[in-house]
Formats: sequence, structure tokens, C-alpha cells
Amino acid sequence: LERKRMQNETIAIHAGYNKKEGFGTMSVPISQTTAYAFRDSEHAANLFALKELGPIYTRLTNPTTDVLEQRFAALEGGAAAICTSSGQAASFFAIANVAEAGDNVIISDKLYGGSVTLLTYTMKRFGINAKVFKSDDASDLESLIDDKTKAIYFESLSNPQIAIPDVEKVVEIAKKHGVLTICDNTVASAALFNPIKWGVDVVVHSTSKYTNGQGTALGGIIVERDGLAEFFKANENRYSHFTTPDVSYHGLVYTDVPLPNFCLRVRLSLLRDIGATQSPHNSWLLIQTLETLSLRVDKHSENALEVAKFLESHPKVKAVNYPGLESNKYYAKAQKYFKGGKSSGLISFDVESFEEAKRIIDSAKLFSVVVNIGDSKSLIVHPASTTHSQMSPEELAKAGVNPVTVRLSIGLENTVDLIEDLNQALN
Ligand SMILES: *Cc1c(COP(=O)(O)O)cnc(C)c1O
Repeated sequence: LERKRMQNETIAIHAGYNKKEGFGTMSVPISQTTAYAFRDSEHAANLFALKELGPIYTRLTNPTTDVLEQRFAALEGGAAAICTSSGQAASFFAIANVAEAGDNVIISDKLYGGSVTLLTYTMKRFGINAKVFKSDDASDLESLIDDKTKAIYFESLSNPQIAIPDVEKVVEIAKKHGVLTICDNTVASAALFNPIKWGVDVVVHSTSKYTNGQGTALGGIIVERDGLAEFFKANENRYSHFTTPDVSYHGLVYTDVPLPNFCLRVRLSLLRDIGATQSPHNSWLLIQTLETLSLRVDKHSENALEVAKFLESHPKVKAVNYPGLESNKYYAKAQKYFKGGKSSGLISFDVESFEEAKRIIDSAKLFSVVVNIGDSKSLIVHPASTTHSQMSPEELAKAGVNPVTVRLSIGLENTVDLIEDLNQALN
């Protein structure tokens, strides 16, 4: 199957699993196990010394999770991937893998609320500071980089602002200074956008959203591009954790190991010590849902465009934010970066007042009031009083979250019904 790179729809169904092994099961089996029997003590010692590769304990690796990791890495065009128990754990590990007390990361001004609190408050208590750059044009990014900058962190299609950064400019500046780029690709999804093909180093996802698509499992994943060992060696002052012996792993030097370095270190160090591991059952669920990712995201995008056009025409709607609309300021970027210019399922729109926003949410019948996104069921939420309620008014303004804004996650229902429901809620 590896003779040449397959298309994404094919990869999502076949990569990473050899059905001729084991019992020939067509469905990837769930290895619902904590640990694995070693052949003998020498086998055990070889596994721990990385002389032989194989499962030791499910906190570190699991055969079902391994299929999802290989499949997802292939889908994103990466060298390797590692699953985590949630998207938050993936973001945390991606940062903690390169930064420690005294270091800083430069983060987009338009990020998921959980990423903002993680990066500006929790990481700060670990001594890692966040500086914020303007992601629309990255005009201030270069001036923020210093010797202690370990990563530039941004979202390809941000939740809830639905903004698209200047990916090429971010990548160009990062490469010039030898700083790692990390892109949260949750909302665009691997079906519409593959950051690695645009030069990004590390991709993170909350697989709880479009990858799962039905709101049935939490998960996260980190994917790294090929060639990061060379990147770490070329920038060894910044990334000495990778080029000098890890005393916690009997002096292992990651860049000496012929395995994708970023995921290797997450596995051997962070998953080992922190243990935010994905359950094998959730890996199995995500393997099922990944098969239809591209079909679903296409439909989410088509439905969202129709609903956005309806909202744009409604007199009570003051503004509609959807990158698939020609009137949108991110339209050109969506056309350039995303497959077929499709813009996924998130829409936000502004109404007259805070009270009016809440009234509309309470009047919707088909839309469920839920803070999740990417479900087959359409969802509606008021970010200012829910997902972003832990932010101050100044932080809300900076994050582009307006009190009069309603956010929709458009599902897979028929748009006739969705539009009818929104119409009665607005009137
Ligand atoms: C939901 C979300 C996360 C966090 O993912 P969980 O799986 O809920 O932990 C991170 N980034 C984005 C863009 C998200 O939408």
C-alpha cells in the first residue's frame, strides 16, 4: 500500500493496518489491554532500550492506537503521530516538549479559549511565558522572537473567531529564526487543510471535534513533519533537550535515534510521566469515524455556506462571519489554503444586543445549546457567556469575542430544516 502516496480519502480508510496479519479482521481490533507479555527478560530489556520496537504498557503504546497514529500521520503528510487523551493534552504536550521554565512561546491572538487559558495562565505557573502576535498578517511576529522563544502556536481556522492566519508568513519568519511552528488544525480538519504541506513543523488536533464527528469520544493527536531531527541539530541552542543526553532515559540523545524525534520524546518522556494517554476504545471509535471525515467535512462546509448566505440576507442579522462568503475578509485565504475553498462548519453572527443573542439561542429548537463543535447535530452557543466566560472584557475584546455574537456549528441535517429553525428563532 505504501508504493506511492495515496489520496487522503483512501489513506483515511486503509493506512496503518495490515488486515492479513492476525485473524484477518476487516475492522481494526481493539487491543483492550493494559500491558503486554514479553517473550523473555532479554526481549523486555531490548524494548526498554529501543533496540527492538514493540508494546510495553498502554500508557506508552497500544496496537489500536498505533493504527490511528500511523493513519493520521499519513493523512497529514507527516512522519509520525501520537495520540493523547484530549485536544488539551495534545496542546500541552506539544508546548511542554520544547519549552521549560524561563522559555516563552508566541501565540496567535485568535485561539480557542482553552488554549488561551492553558498558554497564558497554566503554563505561566510552570514558568513558560506567552507573547501574543497578530495572526491576520503576522506583522509583529518577528519582533517578538528572542533566544528563549521555543514555539509559535496558531490555529489554521480559529475557534470561535473563525479567522485564518497568514500561514506562509508565519512559516517564513519561523524558518528564518529556527523556531518551531505548531498549528492547531482542529476546525479546518485534515480533510480540508494539511499544515505540514505549507511548511508547518508540528500539527495538533482535538480529534473530539470533526475527526470524531458525532460527539462520542474525546481525543487529541500530535503530528510531526519529516526531518525534525535535522532541524533540532541545526538549532541546537534552542532545542538542546533533543541534542543532549536525557538523564531520565539513561542518557538517550533523541537526535541520535532514527525515529521521528518530536513524537518520540512526547512518548518516552511526557506520556511516560504525565500519562494523558488515549484509551484503546476511543482510538477504535476514531478509526471508524476517520473513514468518513472527508465526506462529512465536505457536507458540513456545503451546509454552512447555505446557512451563512441565509443569515447574510436576514434583516435582524448585523454581521455574518463565514470564510466561504465572498464578503468575508478571510475569503481569499480560505480559497488559497483549504481544499476547494471549503470552510468547515463554524459560523458566527452578530445581532442587536446581548439579550437578543441569548433570546435567539433559547428559541432555537433543532439546534442544541452545546459548547462542542464538529458534531453531526447542529449546535448553537453564546461564547461570551460560556466558552469564553472566564475571560475579562478586555481579553474578550482582544480575542475577538463579542457579547452580541452567536456561534453555530452546522451539522449534517438538511439545510431546509436548519434554515427554518433559525428563521423562527430570529423572528
Ligand atoms: C475543542 C478544541 C480544543 C480542545 O480539545 P479537547 O479535545 O476538548 O480537549 C483545542 N483546540 C480547538 C481549536 C478546539 O476546538
